Amino acid sequence: MRGGAWQEGDRVEELGEFGLIERLKGYQGKRGLGGLVVGIGDDAAVLEGRPGFFTLVTTDALVEGIHFHTGYTDPYDLGRKAMAVNLSDIAAMGGRPTYATVALGLSQGAAFGAIDRLYRGFFDELSEAGAQLVGGDTIRSPGGLLLHVTLLGEVETDAVVLRHGASPGDWLCVSGRLGEAAAGLDILRDPDAGSALPRPLAERLIARHRRPSPRLGLGRRLATEGIATAMADVSDGLAGDVGHLCRASRVGARLDADTLPIGDGVAEAAEAFGRSPLAYALHGGEDYELVFTCRPGSLPSDLEPEVTVVGEILPAEEGIVLVTPKGDEPLSAGGFTHF
Ligand code: ADP
Ligand code: MG
Repeated sequence: MRGGAWQEGDRVEELGEFGLIERLKGYQGKRGLGGLVVGIGDDAAVLEGRPGFFTLVTTDALVEGIHFHTGYTDPYDLGRKAMAVNLSDIAAMGGRPTYATVALGLSQGAAFGAIDRLYRGFFDELSEAGAQLVGGDTIRSPGGLLLHVTLLGEVETDAVVLRHGASPGDWLCVSGRLGEAAAGLDILRDPDAGSALPRPLAERLIARHRRPSPRLGLGRRLATEGIATAMADVSDGLAGDVGHLCRASRVGARLDADTLPIGDGVAEAAEAFGRSPLAYALHGGEDYELVFTCRPGSLPSDLEPEVTVVGEILPAEEGIVLVTPKGDEPLSAGGFTHF
């Protein structure tokens, strides 16, 4: 059956996930209802909403075997995480989440006990964020479990923060601690190497992978107080997401390696898995923190230590550079991509 049109053109592996998205942008079309403010290319689409507000739309899917393994994932945690990763995109726009739908792909023999726990996870994560599940679709999956969430949100028109908006001289900031979720995932994948770590530390890192906590409150504050000039969430690894923000803003950046807020215990995990703490912090992924820019000196002091200044925005010609004690190097994305 596969042949003809299914085989034509470049392979997705050659285009890469982001190269593919670039090409798909052409299909956005021109007009729609005329209410499109920002389409493909930000953490969420921005549409005209009720007076004074924009409506936000984001969608993210989780697939068994790619994003999670049932062997070490609890259905309740998975339900929370499926919503949390979408909430994080709404946080990155400075928005408040409102309504979600979920498409559920089930393989034959799926048991209701697990689905019930999954939905309890959806419910708890959404209710705590002030949002609600309002619909979805149920389909048969040929392989494993498939969850596809679409989440709506809203944000005041004068508060929305986009990936573009950063200018040279702005400070580059990140919230929270980086690399913990990726270290937690490595412990789940390779429990033997992970057993070198003290149990409480290992459990804390694993919890960061299982139960990400989207920065909705911080995103709201950065937006409504006009602090952030550009913002994205850190889902693919800081290096990759700084790259998205800089390309959207048509600027470069300097990232100072020795200022990065590397998570507690990430150094120990790096030792156990033969990686560097810096690699976890820059390329680990699934941190679900916020990376943003602000005018120099405009970061309210009470945001420390929740927020760390990690560099500065530069003119585009200067590229994106990582400054390390050993010298400068171009910052490669190197984070998680699907292809
Ligand atoms: P995020 O990680 O913040 O969810 P992505 O990197 O997945 O963002 O996507 C970047 C942008 O590309 C978003 O605006 C998203 O809506 C859009 N996008 C991703 N995949 C597709 C696709 N297959 N078709 C159309 N737009 C897409
Ligand atoms: Mg995002």
